[in-house]
Amino acid sequence: MTKRVAYLRISQETNSFSPVLSTLEDFHRTHWAEGQELARICGPREVEAPGFMKNAELSGFVKAATKLGGDRIELVPLFSAWAIPSGPLSQETFAYFLDRLVRELRDAGPLDGLMMSLHGALGAEGVVDPEADFLEAARSVMGDAPIAVTLDLHGQLNARKVDNIDILAAYRTNPHRDHAQVGYRAGEMLIRTVLGEVRPTTAWRSLPLVLGGGTTIDFLPTMRPLFRRMKQLERDPRVLYCSLFMCHIWNVNPELGWSTHVVTDGDTALAEAIAEELAELAWRVRHEQAPVFPTATEAIAQARTARLARRLGTVCMCDASDIVSAGAAGENTRLLRALLEEGKGLLTYAPIRDAVVADEHWDTPLGQTLTVTVGGRLHPELNTPLIVRGTLIRRHTHPNMGRMLVLDLDHVKLVVTEHAPMAMKPSFYGMVGLNPWRADVCVVKSLFPFRLYFLAHNRKTIYARTRGVTDMDAVTRQAFDDPVHPTDHVTDWRPVDRKRRGMGSAAPALG
Ligand SMILES: [Zn+2]
Repeated sequence: MTKRVAYLRISQETNSFSPVLSTLEDFHRTHWAEGQELARICGPREVEAPGFMKNAELSGFVKAATKLGGDRIELVPLFSAWAIPSGPLSQETFAYFLDRLVRELRDAGPLDGLMMSLHGALGAEGVVDPEADFLEAARSVMGDAPIAVTLDLHGQLNARKVDNIDILAAYRTNPHRDHAQVGYRAGEMLIRTVLGEVRPTTAWRSLPLVLGGGTTIDFLPTMRPLFRRMKQLERDPRVLYCSLFMCHIWNVNPELGWSTHVVTDGDTALAEAIAEELAELAWRVRHEQAPVFPTATEAIAQARTARLARRLGTVCMCDASDIVSAGAAGENTRLLRALLEEGKGLLTYAPIRDAVVADEHWDTPLGQTLTVTVGGRLHPELNTPLIVRGTLIRRHTHPNMGRMLVLDLDHVKLVVTEHAPMAMKPSFYGMVGLNPWRADVCVVKSLFPFRLYFLAHNRKTIYARTRGVTDMDAVTRQAFDDPVHPTDHVTDWRPVDRKRRGMGSAAPALG
């Protein structure tokens, strides 16, 4: 008899410090598909997420289901919603997804399995863990039928989530580039489970460890041995999948931390042993701290000194306190102000988000001189608006960033965007006629991926810290239920882990 398996996506990485709530409009602008349209974009030779990624989790899942299930499986496409990182979901948006999820699962008829592509670091206004609510709701409809989930390795695990997941697969790359493979692996496990070929059992651990940033890159020496070990463990056919989560340090969550998760074929003891081993290995790298970034003034001085780098290519300056790909609004004026005042003589390309300026001057003739106030609108407590004067030199429309204007402010060419500026690729500047080869400095709003995209142009990377919602030390200002590293001196991760997994209270782990 044919087995019916449904699939869906609700995905966004939330920066809890951002006051810019995420709404349905943000999902529609980034990625939205439902029913047969979802089935179409997940098919071979189609593009799953135009403008972002050819293949992601759901097309990977469909590929696995088609290959392993053939006509024994009927796929039921529900919906797929994906938004760029930003603030928490608004209450209405959260309620919409919860309601839609339950309704579609009920209306789908009898289901033998469900594939959910979630993020793991989703936040919502007034909700502790919206994804745990989604999973509980899905479980209430699915009963004992297996639920498979894919998550970003920046996702957060907790007992409520884990209890409602039968099969879990996290990304294994950071910057993330294995979405489709992870979807395929989850699909493989789910279809084999539905067909009765495997019987997934899981184990997990939660670490009181809230490190983030550059030390979590999969191919750099700190993390490489761990990812290699996971791959090695999976050579055993009883081990179906190993996940390591390195938390999104800009999530506010009382149980924030790294975690491990293992799926085995019917072998609980083995799953427990591996989850424990990986947790111990992860705990051992905790002293690898990210370097402290220079201030804007220091960063500009460094760029000025880097003469050869500027002659051969460009300097990429990351606005580390306003990283759009980590959920910042992209309207922080602190670095821009410093570049205007202290960066004279350095040809600099920089972005700023300002919907009002983009709208007001959309019809202004090119070549006109303007005085406008940019930035600091969405989060005025954190950064102040900046008055700039310059010539309007270019106009452009982008499907996700909306209206874009280029202002020539002498040594700074400022790209004003209607929505959050995804400034991480040379094409961000190229599409508005700014050639990165000519620039001394290209400002980026990405933490790490820009280093790959700008590989050809970038001769020196400088991270500049000011103040904003993606400050590396924001996590140290959060209040946690338990002592966490590196805020507190924690000697043993196990007491907190046991408490978080519902196995009793945390004994003092302070040393
Ligand atoms: Zn991530």
